[in-house]
Amino acid sequence: RAKGAGRGTTCFFEPGMEAKLRQRSLLEHDLRLALESDQLSLAFQPLYACGTRDVTAVEALVRWQHPTRGALPPTEFIPVAEESGLIQPLGRWVLERACTAALRWPRPYNVAVNLSPAQFRHGRLPEIVAEVLERTGLPAGRLEIEVTEGLLIDDADGALAVIRALKRQGVRIALDDFGTGYSSLGYLRRFPFDKIKIDKSFVQALEADPGARAIVDAILAMGRSLNLQVTAEGVETEQQFRFLQRLACDEAQGFLLGRPMTAERLQELLLANSGGRADAPLTALHAA
Ligand code: C2E
Ligand code: MG
Ligand code: MG
Ligand code: MG
Repeated sequence: RAKGAGRGTTCFFEPGMEAKLRQRSLLEHDLRLALESDQLSLAFQPLYACGTRDVTAVEALVRWQHPTRGALPPTEFIPVAEESGLIQPLGRWVLERACTAALRWPRPYNVAVNLSPAQFRHGRLPEIVAEVLERTGLPAGRLEIEVTEGLLIDDADGALAVIRALKRQGVRIALDDFGTGYSSLGYLRRFPFDKIKIDKSFVQALEADPGARAIVDAILAMGRSLNLQVTAEGVETEQQFRFLQRLACDEAQGFLLGRPMTAERLQELLLANSGGRADAPLTALHAA
């Protein structure tokens, strides 16, 4: 029975809610085991300079191979990790693995790691990041921490203090999924972001919707005047990519350019990208 529904009224859970709660606690139990038994891994997706189509950075994305349910998307288990507190060990694991992987790459590309708002509320986040950087030996300037607008809503002042502490270490901060949240543009001025990542919903509407083109153009203009690097997410077609090139977008990421892949596959791609001419186009590689 739900609380808070005025005196004398009875409010039952919506149908299916109990089943959902049960499923969630099962998932939490399984995730705890997954953390201890090597079921998690990282996929890596490159980011490309729009101008040259060279790799500029690589984003680490967590993957979970569930023993009976198969591959589960992070959108399904990250919320469970956040609500159960498991996001702390999971987040630390991702950070360590991503930093370690980045040190094996043939060139010092930056590594982007997603952090959830819950990790910022932990209080010790700057120390944890410093510890991981020291243990792995990754230079702080190669780490890009991706945050979402959700971080700025509940406790913007608290978030700002943590972001400042991270920036003092030399870590870069990117605002992910830009345009989908409810945060005000004022945050762009107040927060020392290095990069904004335009959400894929805008990028994917570029061809059909002149409104989306206007918004992307405006975000790029704003990025330039605020001295922020701008990345477009979810680029799936050549036409979208050409739009972004024409609008002088800095960076692009998406299935057209490179899907999330294993560490081994990424290593091959990076070796090809840096072999011979460091600026060799990647088109041939992707066609293969
Ligand atoms: P995100 O950080 O915005 O990551 C981009 C997501 O878009 C990834 O989904 C990626 O596979 C997908 N994507 C990339 N290119 C394309 C494209 O061209 N088209 C389409 N339709 N999708 C594309 P993924 O890996 O399922 O991750 C979803 C979200 O889960 C991430 O969104 C991020 O918010 C969260 N996430 C992933 N890994 C972690 C992690 O280690 N920690 C935390 N806290 N969150 C994570
Ligand atoms: Mg991201
Ligand atoms: Mg995103
Ligand atoms: Mg996203």
